[in-house]
Amino acid sequence: MTMLEARGIQKAFNNGKKDIPVLKGIDLKIEKGSFIVITGPSGAGKSTLLHILGGLDAPSAGEVRFTGQSLYALNDALLSRMRNQSIGFIFQFYHLLGEFNVLENVLMPALIKSSGRAQRKQSREKACALLLKVGLGERLDHYPSQLSGGERQRVAIVRALINSPQILFCDEPTGNLDSATGSEIFDLIRKINLDDKMTVVVVTHNTELVKGAGRVYHLKDGVLVN
Ligand code: ADP
Repeated sequence: MTMLEARGIQKAFNNGKKDIPVLKGIDLKIEKGSFIVITGPSGAGKSTLLHILGGLDAPSAGEVRFTGQSLYALNDALLSRMRNQSIGFIFQFYHLLGEFNVLENVLMPALIKSSGRAQRKQSREKACALLLKVGLGERLDHYPSQLSGGERQRVAIVRALINSPQILFCDEPTGNLDSATGSEIFDLIRKINLDDKMTVVVVTHNTELVKGAGRVYHLKDGVLVN
């Protein structure tokens, strides 16, 4: 089953004087349960592409279909709901909220999804179980500033999974970590793909890390090479 399909994706940014093309016509089909890696040098447009695929930023031209639905044809409310309930994202700099503890950070998307008491309880139990699974069972009431980079990224991964998304996008997930910790985080993402059949898309400039993992594409000069 095709989970996500991008057709003719173009993106240009205006620098005040003229449009600078970054993506020049990207076609990509992502099957359910697959592990897709997109590499390319810094500035190639990897994050731009990932944001477009994940419903965070509309393309200048082209279409993204997610489970058959054209993402950017949705109104804001429906697109927000799609992002909250069906799409998980993790970022290079974790984007945790510093004034909330680990458990609260993880529960944020669940809180946005539902205000029902029973569901909140369920989410809390799921959060605790997932945090335990990634080795943070003793850290529920710690704040992000009290955690290492690798621990922060684990929290971000659990937060991305809390609403049981259908796809997980990872934007340079190891870019801020030393190589040993980066490998651990990459292995964890790979394990989520293999164990839970989670569809995963990773963009990274670290080609060493992704050797032998999944299907690798290279983004260069605005086009994707298989
Ligand atoms: P990568 O993730 O491969 O390092 P990016 O997608 O972050 O590359 O950026 C690709 C190009 O698009 C860069 O030249 C960057 O400066 C430009 N760019 C990205 N986002 C914006 C933006 N919001 N406004 C203007 N230019 C941008």
